[in-house]
Amino acid sequence: MQHNSIKQFRITKENISDICRRAHRATDDVNLIAVSKNFDAEAIKPFLDEGQRVFGENRVQEAYGKWPILKENYVDIELHLLGPLQTNKVRQALRLFDVIHTLDSLKLAERIARISKEEHTQPRLFIQVNTGNEKQKAGLPLGEAVAFAKYCIENFFLHIVGFMCIPPVNQDSRLHFALLQKLSQEAGLSMLSMGMSADYEDAIFMGATHIRLGRVIFGDRM
Ligand SMILES: *Cc1c(COP(=O)(O)O)cnc(C)c1O
Repeated sequence: MQHNSIKQFRITKENISDICRRAHRATDDVNLIAVSKNFDAEAIKPFLDEGQRVFGENRVQEAYGKWPILKENYVDIELHLLGPLQTNKVRQALRLFDVIHTLDSLKLAERIARISKEEHTQPRLFIQVNTGNEKQKAGLPLGEAVAFAKYCIENFFLHIVGFMCIPPVNQDSRLHFALLQKLSQEAGLSMLSMGMSADYEDAIFMGATHIRLGRVIFGDRM
């Protein structure tokens, strides 16, 4: 099992390099976030041994069950929070995560600003945009994203690096990646968190700087 997933991981990395070449992009410009949600510390270790240092998790609580111990044994780990962040978990999140991809409300922005000051930390933040305007999905409406980014930067001095989206399951992701790319140009932000196992090739062609891959490297989640 584990052996297979490392093999799969190597193949995926080669695939990313190949896509970057075809898209005329430097491989270094595309950050691979290995999404380790639902996998425990033992399952993650082989990837750390393989040299991977950037990982994504969806839940603060789950991440605390594995990363503190892994951080004691491996240096330079960079953790990205990819799931919704409740305001009462902000302090915990800021103590563990380097990057948060799911900023989507003023209340959360305010809280992150206050607590990051107290904790003497400056997390990098992506603003999640609900590009498909789906009721059940988190993220700001498309039309509010640019103004929200400016507001957070000017009023809260937050380190906003770019936008993130999760396209609707039954639609062509490219439409949503294009919308996100346009937003980042309007806002003058340089990072784009888009592309998952099923659509990361398109995402790289459309300017993704952070692709978030789970299944394609770890295998199916339980
Ligand atoms: C689970 C998850 C991923 C990874 O999805 P895969 O389809 O397994 O690659 C990426 N981004 C977010 C926000 C996720 O929740």
